[in-house]
Amino acid sequence: MNKISFLDLELQQKKIANTLDSYLKKVLKHSKYIIGPEVKQLEKTLEVYTESKHCITCASGTDALILSLLAYGIGRGHYVICPSFTFPATAEAILITGATPIFVDVGKKTFNLCYQQLEKILEDNKGKIDIKAVIAVDLFGLPANYKKLKKISNKYKVKVIADSAQSFGASINKKKVGNLASITCTSFFPAKPLGCYGDGGAIFTENKIIKNKLISLRAHGKSTSKYKISKIGLNSRLDTIQAAVLLAKMKIFDWELNKREQNAKLFNSELEAYYEVPKLPKQTKSAWAQYTLIVKKRNKLVDYFQEKNIPFMIYYPIPMHKQPAYKKYTNKNIDLINSIKLSKTVISLPIHAYLTNTEKEYILNHLKKVRKFL
Ligand SMILES: *Cc1c(COP(=O)(O)O)cnc(C)c1O
Repeated sequence: MNKISFLDLELQQKKIANTLDSYLKKVLKHSKYIIGPEVKQLEKTLEVYTESKHCITCASGTDALILSLLAYGIGRGHYVICPSFTFPATAEAILITGATPIFVDVGKKTFNLCYQQLEKILEDNKGKIDIKAVIAVDLFGLPANYKKLKKISNKYKVKVIADSAQSFGASINKKKVGNLASITCTSFFPAKPLGCYGDGGAIFTENKIIKNKLISLRAHGKSTSKYKISKIGLNSRLDTIQAAVLLAKMKIFDWELNKREQNAKLFNSELEAYYEVPKLPKQTKSAWAQYTLIVKKRNKLVDYFQEKNIPFMIYYPIPMHKQPAYKKYTNKNIDLINSIKLSKTVISLPIHAYLTNTEKEYILNHLKKVRKFL
């Protein structure tokens, strides 16, 4: 058997080769490399796909978060709550705007932020510090409970920003990510559910004023004319070439989502007698960016996987509040026990759409075999 890949961008490229070729050739022909027609076409396509009002593309998922915070006027003197168990960009975006992060724990089963603790933080700090927003992270592809978040945020008058970098394509009650929160950020980093061939990102919003602010902010804060600057912005546009790649990938996006879902279902049914497997809340569809098991003796499993040539990833080995650069934002009154536990026990397996039956069997058989040693 050939080496199993954690992610198969090569086979994916073969599947879209013809479409990709014609899209890319078109871009090279018209040479509008910044905000060319493909960027606008992609924004329209993603608005239709997610049934959201406005899609504004930008240069990365990290920038999508920064731009959203800026559009809400968040900066120095403000606080923003986000989970500790996440990719660094979530917390980094807060600090880059001048605001301060407050870390909240995550649930053991969903990996999404803990609503009870979130409410407690908001209650305890009421009238003391200026908490402006909560960034919810749809970790591993599972959307957070935005209904619950809306109730909490209305009560405490804070904004909810969805960090959906890992969950594009997921849904709750048939409503897609992009249309679940007032503002949603996603990433097109190659390893995400919808990835381009470089960096890219997008923001979805239902609010026209925010949309116009974002369009200005992603181009240096321009106003009615290019050289009349109304606010401090960034250079953060999605390249036309990347938009063309994404348009080609959208043709197979639902097919891939389905394949990953089928793989996750197979892994769950085969492994649930042996391991703690990921379970979804009712009416929720994950984008299955990652398929993640919780294993107490993870080191042993890692050794075994290395011996048997099974690829894996550890997302994430250190929670944010333990990171050298972020330690000082730790609040001793907030217990982040699940974030710490998960960082020591999670392991993500390959479930991409191009896994063969033989590869899946190989992975599953070895997982069953090694169980008694863990
Ligand atoms: C990948 C990721 C980001 C950042 O996206 P980039 O496009 O790499 O900047 C932000 N948040 C989460 C949860 C992510 O997984």
